[in-house]
Amino acid sequence: MSDRPVRITEICYHHIKDDPPNLAILPWGATEAHGQHLPYGTDVLQAEAFAVHSAELAQKEGAKVVVYPPIPFGNNAQQLDQISTIHLSTTTAFAILKDVVHSLTAQGIDRLIILNAHGGNEFKPLIRDLQEEFGILIVLVNFYQIEPGLLTEIFDEPGDHAGEMETSLLLHLFPDRVYPELAGDGARNPFQIRALNQPGAWSPRPWQQSHPDFGAGNPRKATAEKGKKYFEKICRRIKDVIVDLSKAQKGELPYI
Ligand SMILES: [Zn+2]
Repeated sequence: MSDRPVRITEICYHHIKDDPPNLAILPWGATEAHGQHLPYGTDVLQAEAFAVHSAELAQKEGAKVVVYPPIPFGNNAQQLDQISTIHLSTTTAFAILKDVVHSLTAQGIDRLIILNAHGGNEFKPLIRDLQEEFGILIVLVNFYQIEPGLLTEIFDEPGDHAGEMETSLLLHLFPDRVYPELAGDGARNPFQIRALNQPGAWSPRPWQQSHPDFGAGNPRKATAEKGKKYFEKICRRIKDVIVDLSKAQKGELPYI
């Protein structure tokens, strides 16, 4: 069991029929321009890489886990002026998630991790509704929010979109898909309605006007070494979530 594949796309029925998973991971990304230098699939690639590597580590510690193919589209309503970006509306995302949850619970899999890599995706209201309806425990993991101190320890300026952190991750995971020489500085134009720049007052950024080179955060100090260090540490943290969730006993909060 500890050496069977974790990706459902590689698993055959004989792998799981006598030892079924009790936990599924659904990586969720986005298809959008990532600065001038990272691929449109950046969030999809990151979500799947974190999910698969973390699940492999967790399986070695006894977790019964499968990783589904990533959902490739996310909420990109403010980026529709970027060529070839796809926007998935919240109602569509809810419908997809509901069908996944319905299918899993029909087979007795009552734990799900959404491994999200796109900051524009919001899952909390969807999870609240579906958890109540289906009696499943759903855990949202935004990889970029795990161990925030690590971001500032490793990166000079992590950034939140095609910045130093994401560029470093891609340089580590998929170096042949990065064009560092084309990277801009990821600068942001603040809102001209000045009171909207304070914490607690929020409105989405019109992306292209807010970020002229489509990136948020300066990627120029990105390196593959920083990406490797960050990836491996975050995977170990996600591994802990997977192991604890898979081994949880019914009645243990919040698995009630
Ligand atoms: Zn991204």
